[in-house]
Amino acid sequence: MSDAYNGGCACGAIRYEISAEPIFSNDCQCRDCQRKSGTGHGSYMTFPKRQDVKLTGDATHWDMVGDSGNVKTRGFCPTCGSPVYLTFSAMPDVFTIHAASLDDPSRYKPQVVTYHVRGYAWDHLDPALPKFEKMPPG
Ligand SMILES: [Zn+2]
Ligand SMILES: [Zn+2]
Repeated sequence: MSDAYNGGCACGAIRYEISAEPIFSNDCQCRDCQRKSGTGHGSYMTFPKRQDVKLTGDATHWDMVGDSGNVKTRGFCPTCGSPVYLTFSAMPDVFTIHAASLDDPSRYKPQVVTYHVRGYAWDHLDPALPKFEKMPPG
């Protein structure tokens, strides 16, 4: 296993350390990711087990119903507003971080584009990546 993934919000109030490898890395062009990123997509790394995540600081949480119909909870910093992580009611073990919250965002290697159907022409992503209209099956 490689080094832990460390990161947090812009002001440093929220920090995480994840001792695992991501199981899914995606650029998501859904409307919600556009709203919260302020641009054409969000970039995420998803880890399989909450127990591999050491989280410090108190995020503000906001629940919303995703396109899938399940509740997803956004964790963001109440001071600097940076989006840091996401959790999912239907998959309580899973922990997803915003790729740019990493101390070293170059470690993010997107595998796929999700919700490409919602993407805009001005948000040009790597043409080599497989694109899914919504989420990949499974
Ligand atoms: Zn902060
Ligand atoms: Zn999305």
